[in-house]
Amino acid sequence: MKSANPGSRRKKIILYYILAVVLPGIILGYMAYRGIRNDQALREAESRRRLEMDNQDFFSGVYSSLIKFMNEQTSDSVLLSGKYDPSLLVLFVQEVNGSKKLVTHQLLYLPAELFTFKSKQFNLQFNLDKGFRLEFSENRLSEALKFYQDKVLKTDNPEEKIIALVASARIYNKMNQPESAKTIYEEIRKDYSGNLLNGEIPLGLIAGLEILKINRALGEKEEMRNNSLQYLQLLLHPSCDYDENQFDLFYQSFKEIMQETDPVADSLLQMLNTQRSRTDYLIRILTGTDLITTGSNNQYKRINNEILCIPVNVAELVVMYLLQDNSTGIQTCMVIDFPVYLKSVSEKLADNLDPNSSLNLKIEDNNGKIIYSRIFKEGTSYISFPFPENLPGLKLLLSENKPGFVAALFKAGSGIYLFIFILIILFMILGYVFTIYALNTELRLNKMKSEFISNVSHELKSPLTSIRMMTEMLHHNRVGTEERKSAYYSAMLEESEHLSHLIDNILDFSRMEDDRKKYDFIDLDLNELLVKFIESTRENLPESGFNIHYSSPDKVPMIQADRDSMLQVIYNLVDNAIKFSGTSTQIDINLFSNNNELLFCVKDYGIGISVKDQERIFDRFFRGDEPQRLGIKGSGIGLTIVKKIVEAHKGYLTMDSRPGEGSTFCVHMPINKNTKS
Ligand code: ADP
Repeated sequence: MKSANPGSRRKKIILYYILAVVLPGIILGYMAYRGIRNDQALREAESRRRLEMDNQDFFSGVYSSLIKFMNEQTSDSVLLSGKYDPSLLVLFVQEVNGSKKLVTHQLLYLPAELFTFKSKQFNLQFNLDKGFRLEFSENRLSEALKFYQDKVLKTDNPEEKIIALVASARIYNKMNQPESAKTIYEEIRKDYSGNLLNGEIPLGLIAGLEILKINRALGEKEEMRNNSLQYLQLLLHPSCDYDENQFDLFYQSFKEIMQETDPVADSLLQMLNTQRSRTDYLIRILTGTDLITTGSNNQYKRINNEILCIPVNVAELVVMYLLQDNSTGIQTCMVIDFPVYLKSVSEKLADNLDPNSSLNLKIEDNNGKIIYSRIFKEGTSYISFPFPENLPGLKLLLSENKPGFVAALFKAGSGIYLFIFILIILFMILGYVFTIYALNTELRLNKMKSEFISNVSHELKSPLTSIRMMTEMLHHNRVGTEERKSAYYSAMLEESEHLSHLIDNILDFSRMEDDRKKYDFIDLDLNELLVKFIESTRENLPESGFNIHYSSPDKVPMIQADRDSMLQVIYNLVDNAIKFSGTSTQIDINLFSNNNELLFCVKDYGIGISVKDQERIFDRFFRGDEPQRLGIKGSGIGLTIVKKIVEAHKGYLTMDSRPGEGSTFCVHMPINKNTKS
């Protein structure tokens, strides 16, 4: 029998593992890794190309939406309803002779040239002279008041009504009745904010100022605060047109009345200042004193040969000047707040561009302030595209949503290397598990082998010792009676037969392990073999008190078998039955035959086999827990040999056992079947 050094075997297994699994794994892994990197680079290039196309598509979308926007804002329906887009800062028409007509605007005040154009011709045909006379020349205030109030109720002329209302409030003030004056001013502010007094003074603002003055005089702090906010809102969103001087006047007057303001008013004043500088810039653009007229128009790109787009980035003003000339030479010009415009159109443009929501899109100004964003997954790497030259200098940031790990894995083509990589890792893990398993099995087998050697040595030694002792006694004539001598001889015979079987077992096991075992198949009468074996066993066991019961059918068919091997099978099964009988002394051996097979069973009533051990009793070197605990000797190869011999005869073994009740082993042999090995 071969026994290898466990340490060197372990090293060998580890070496094989490294050569067969780790090395190829590392090489393949490296290749797959390179593949993944290449794949990634390809995908990134492809993604960049797609994003560049998206970028172009986005801007052609912006251009066509600008043309659409311009047409919409100058369409009859919008002009009539006056509902212009919030991003539209100024819309004006320039006649062939160069004169400008302002259509709509979001300016705080107007430049003189446009203002004069807009100002209405004031109709001075009022009949309020009597009131003025009573009020100013004769100082008959109550009568004057009565006259004005009467006018307010009766006149059909709105200008007249307004003047009469203002005069009534003025008289209440003179008569020291501020509450009444305030009520009238509140009415004026509410109903006539958009009107101009005498064709030039904005009524809403003048009424607002008067109310604030009264509030201050009466010490109405809370009311004054609310009114000041209203006043500032009106300055910020004027409801009628006036020029810069008037704006300044109202602005300064407010500051004089309101010595102290609160945070809300402060922020409104702040906004007012910003708006003011924006207004100044817009007026410069509008009047053509800045930017637009410098250089020739050719330097700016036209969209579809239709609209001339001129970007303007100054201070906080990011606007677009759009110009469209019609066939008669009249030009329509507009200035749009570009960020506000972008906010309103980008959502739709992005949706058209990317219906599958796989694109992250951001628009930023040069300071990194986000103007618009549509993000599905934050943290992805963006590619920044500057806006085209004829649009303000903003940036479009685009990134694709990367597919998830699993999606990338199964995406045709691109995930293949990743897939291979994972396979390799799995392969290495499997290899590792297998190696550990092989190592453990090897170690266990080695342990069993050394136990086997010590068990076998023990089993060889005890019969030898008793033979030797008995031989010595006989040799020195220390055995008295003939009867005892004969007992000694038969004991020696039994022990040497046991030894011989044991050695047969070991030799056979070794041959079987190396596939060297040869069988000499002959026609064998199993009944005769069993009878002879049982007789000799009975003879050798006179004192043990074992009762071996044997039964067989009348007619027993012959089988093809190797005689010595069959004897060994019988010996091992009966020897086990005797060894594991415990306190029982009964053993039954039965021979049966049926159509196909001849079978014999060896049944004992001993310790039985635990369910756990039943699975392994045919494994080489295996010995049950219970026999070891009870100190029953054995080598663990008996049943292995039995099984191999029976299988070499094309037969099979069955076993039935219950712990504490006994075991039955049956050998099933085929009848009339030639089996040569
Ligand atoms: P050994 O008998 O030398 O231990 P075997 O290969 O003959 O080796 O048997 C393996 C194990 O099977 C035994 O150690 C024992 O646990 C169990 N076994 C075999 N035959 C019997 C039996 N008749 N009764 C109980 N246990 C048995």
